[in-house]
Amino acid sequence: MAIELANVFSLALIGWLVSMSTRCNRWFKKTAVKMRTQAGRIELICGPMFAGKTTALIRILGESAENGHRVLAVKPSSDTRYGEDQIVTHDGKRIPAVRVDCTDELLTSGESAEVIGIDEVHFFDVELAGVCEKLAGLGVRVICAGVDLDHHGQPFDVIDRLETIADEVVRLTATCSICGERATHTKRLVSGESRIVVGGVGAYEPRCADCFDRTADASGS
Ligand SMILES: [Zn+2]
Repeated sequence: MAIELANVFSLALIGWLVSMSTRCNRWFKKTAVKMRTQAGRIELICGPMFAGKTTALIRILGESAENGHRVLAVKPSSDTRYGEDQIVTHDGKRIPAVRVDCTDELLTSGESAEVIGIDEVHFFDVELAGVCEKLAGLGVRVICAGVDLDHHGQPFDVIDRLETIADEVVRLTATCSICGERATHTKRLVSGESRIVVGGVGAYEPRCADCFDRTADASGS
C-alpha cells in the first residue's frame, strides 16, 4: 500500500513538473516577444562623407554582438568599394555584411535579427524608410548610416524621411579640406551625371558650407 501511494505521488509530481515546465516555456516566449517589441527603434547617423558614420555604425554593431544580440550588417549591392561582403570604413575598420539590391530583400533578411545596421542608406530609394518602420515594429533596433546632402547640397529624400521617423538622429561633421572648419557638405571631385557616384578618398572631399559654396561654380558641381 505504501509503495502504491509512493508511485501515485511520484506520477503526480512528474505531471506537475511537466505542466509547470510547459507554462514556464510559454511565459518565457511571451516575455521574449514582448521585450523585443519594446526594443524596436530607428536610429539615424548622418552627415557628410569622412565624418565617421560607418565607424560609429560598426562600433554599435560590435557592442550589440558582444551583448549577445543577433546582429545583421547590411550594405547596398551597388557599393562595391573595399570589400563586396563587408562594411569597411575609409580607414580600414571592417565587419562582414550582407549585400541587398532592394528594400524588400532587406525586409526578408532582417526579420530574424535583433539589431540591424544599414550602411550607405542614401543609395536606397525612399521606400527604405517604410521597411525600417516595419522592422522596428517587429522589435528590431534599426541603425541607418548615410550621407544627408548630395554633391549639390540637396538632401536625399530617404534621409529626410528617416529623419522624421527616427527615434534618435545623430548628425556628425567632418573637417573641411580647405579651411579646417567643421564640414557639413561633401564636394565631388569626379564628374558624372548620376546623383550617386561610388567613390571614396580622391573622389570626394568634406567641405564647410562656405568653402562648398565658393567652389560650386568653378567645378560645375
Ligand atoms: Zn571650409
